[in-house]
Amino acid sequence: MKKAEMEKCIEKIPVLRDVRQEKETVWINPNKAKYEKSMENAELTKSDIEDAEKRFLRFAPCIMKRFPKTRNRQGLIESALTPIPAMKEHMNQVYGSRLEGELFLKEDNRLAIAGSVKARGGIYEVLKHTEDLALQHGLVEPEGDYGVLAGEEAKAFFGNYTIQVGSTGNLGLSIGIMGAAIGYKVIVHMSADAKQWKKDLLRSHGVEVVEYQSDYGKAVENGRKLSQQDAKSYFVDDENSRNLFLGYAVAANRLAGQLKERGIVVDGEHPLFVYIPCGVGGAPGGISFGLKQVFRDNVHCFFAEPTQAPCMLVGMATGLHHGIAVQDLGLSGMTHADGLAVSRPSGFVGGVMNTMLSGEFTVQDARLYDYMRDLLKTEGIFLEPSACAAFQGAAVLNKSHASIRYLKENGLMGRMGKAAHIVWATGGSLVPENIREEYKATFLPYR
Ligand SMILES: *Cc1c(COP(=O)(O)O)cnc(C)c1O
Repeated sequence: MKKAEMEKCIEKIPVLRDVRQEKETVWINPNKAKYEKSMENAELTKSDIEDAEKRFLRFAPCIMKRFPKTRNRQGLIESALTPIPAMKEHMNQVYGSRLEGELFLKEDNRLAIAGSVKARGGIYEVLKHTEDLALQHGLVEPEGDYGVLAGEEAKAFFGNYTIQVGSTGNLGLSIGIMGAAIGYKVIVHMSADAKQWKKDLLRSHGVEVVEYQSDYGKAVENGRKLSQQDAKSYFVDDENSRNLFLGYAVAANRLAGQLKERGIVVDGEHPLFVYIPCGVGGAPGGISFGLKQVFRDNVHCFFAEPTQAPCMLVGMATGLHHGIAVQDLGLSGMTHADGLAVSRPSGFVGGVMNTMLSGEFTVQDARLYDYMRDLLKTEGIFLEPSACAAFQGAAVLNKSHASIRYLKENGLMGRMGKAAHIVWATGGSLVPENIREEYKATFLPYR
C-alpha cells in the first residue's frame, strides 16, 4: 500500500494512530448489525454447522480407536468450561478491571490430540477430506461404521495421499498429528516464528517439516505451490478454508450445553461476553459465527491481538481486509505470541465478521506473560502466551472509554452484574516443561 494512501486512511480512522504507535487499544466495530441483518449476505448458515456436528459424530468411533484418551468424551474433542473466580478477583484488585458477573475459562488449551483450539478446525478439515476420499473410493458406506477408517487397511490406503499446510505452529501440530494418525503423508511448512519443540514433536509423529526463514505468508505460499504440483496432495488453506471455519463453529452449540449445565442464562437481561485471541482469523471467526447462531444479539464477541500484529483489526477497520498488512502501518508483525504472529488477515473471515464482531482489544507482549503468571498463581492453570491475549478483553472492557460507550449504546450498563464473561484459552497443554519454565521467567519491559 502507498504511503500517501495510508496517511489518508489514518486520518479517517483515528484508532489506527494508536495502532501505529504500538499502543494497546480498543476498537469498536462501527459496522456491527443486528443478528438477522448480519446473516442476510452470509454464505454459511446454521445448517452448515449442523452438518459439521454430524460429521464429527460419525467419526467419533474412528477417533476413539486412534486416540483412546478421547473415550471419556465418546470420541468428541471438547474442552471444559471452568469458572475462574480467583482470577477475576485478582484482575479487579491488581488491574482495576471492575469486572462484574461471572468469569469463565474455555479450556481449549486442554483439547485432546493437539492441545490447542486448532484441534477443532484442523482436525475437522482432516476428517472432512478423509470422508470425501473414503466415500469416493468405497471405504465406507454413507451411514456406515467409520470405525473401519481406523483400521490398517484404511491406513495403507491413505498412505497414498498427502496433506500439506503452512503454519506458525499449532495448526501444523493439529493437522500433522491427526493426518499422520489416519495414515497420510503430511508435510508442514513452518514459518520462522515456529518453535523448535513443535517441529520436533511433529517429526516424532513421522511428519515432514519444511522450515522457512521468512514469515507465515511465505510458508503458506510455497506450501500451496508444492501441493498444487501433486494431484494426490491436499492443501489446507488457513486463510480461506470454509472447512476449518466450520470445525471451529461447532464449539458454539456445545458451549451452550455447558452454560446450561451450570445454570448460566444468556438472554436480553443476561449478556454473554466472549474474548478470543486472533491470528489469521479462522478460529475466533468460526467460533464467533457459531455463537452468533446460538445466542444472536445476546452474545458480544471480541477478538484480541498483539500490538505488533493486529492484522484483523487493521483489515476490518480499514475495510481493506486481505488488502492490507500490519507492515503498511510500520509494525513488525513480530510477537512472542507465536500463534498470533500473522501480518495479513483472512479476507473471508473479515467479510463474515464485518457485521457480527463487537470489537477488538490489542495487548502488548509484556502483559501476556503477566496474565500467564496471574492465571497460574490464582487458578493453577497454564496457558501459552498467545492464549493469554484473551484476558485483555475482560481486563479492559469496563475501563476503556470506547468499550464503555459500547456498553452504554447497547443498553448493557445496568446488566453487567448478570453477565457471563468467557476468556477463550486457545492453547498450552502440549508446551514442554522446560519451555514452561522459560515462559514463567520471561519478563519483558512495558512500553
Ligand atoms: C491459531 C491460534 C489462534 C488464532 O487462530 P487463527 O485462526 O489464526 O485466528 C489463537 N491462539 C492460539 C494458541 C493459536 O494457536
